[in-house]
Amino acid sequence: MLIVGAGGIGSPVARILVDAGVRGIAVADDDVVALENLHRQVLFDDRDLGRRKVDVLAERLPVEAIPVRVDRRNGRSLLRGRACVIDGTDSFADKYLLNDLCLELSVPFVHAGAAQFRGQVLLVRPGGPCLRCLLPEPPDARTDECRVTGIFGPAAGLVAALAAGEALRAISGDPAPSALLLADLATGRLQRARLPPDPLCPCAAGAPAGR
Ligand SMILES: [Zn+2]
Repeated sequence: MLIVGAGGIGSPVARILVDAGVRGIAVADDDVVALENLHRQVLFDDRDLGRRKVDVLAERLPVEAIPVRVDRRNGRSLLRGRACVIDGTDSFADKYLLNDLCLELSVPFVHAGAAQFRGQVLLVRPGGPCLRCLLPEPPDARTDECRVTGIFGPAAGLVAALAAGEALRAISGDPAPSALLLADLATGRLQRARLPPDPLCPCAAGAPAGR
């Protein structure tokens, strides 16, 4: 299993999955612990400032640290053969890259994102439906990323718990259909929405009808 991003979503996902008994977890991130992110990165504290997040995580949890940013160049080799890949990134470009590579490599993918008070989680199984069925192209980069919009700390924790649950479903072979999980901490609403596959989406190519 590979968690991409060791921040406010990725690091609690690692903690939850380790506590659930999952082993063979790797975490990829090239970023360091920063003061402005500590409110949502519950595994780190001010003693860790300036240290690489994956190094701190690997000291505290039985996970493998991969101190690189996953990109187009290294993505296939890092993702290939994983039981599941979990999105702990904070940019739409990275989320779509992971979505596309996981579909190409037939690796189950858990998309997770949070901004302000809201979050969403989607388990993408080989063959879809996928993130592009929800929105064919990434949103404008200027509206992108929690660095721009800010994030309410507990929203990251809630999304992490939901994402860890979906990852456990993926690796345990739970056959229940995928659904889009939507959480809003401003209203306290948690929704589970069916995501129909988009017949024009690349993930649907060659897929049997009625997925
Ligand atoms: Zn799709």
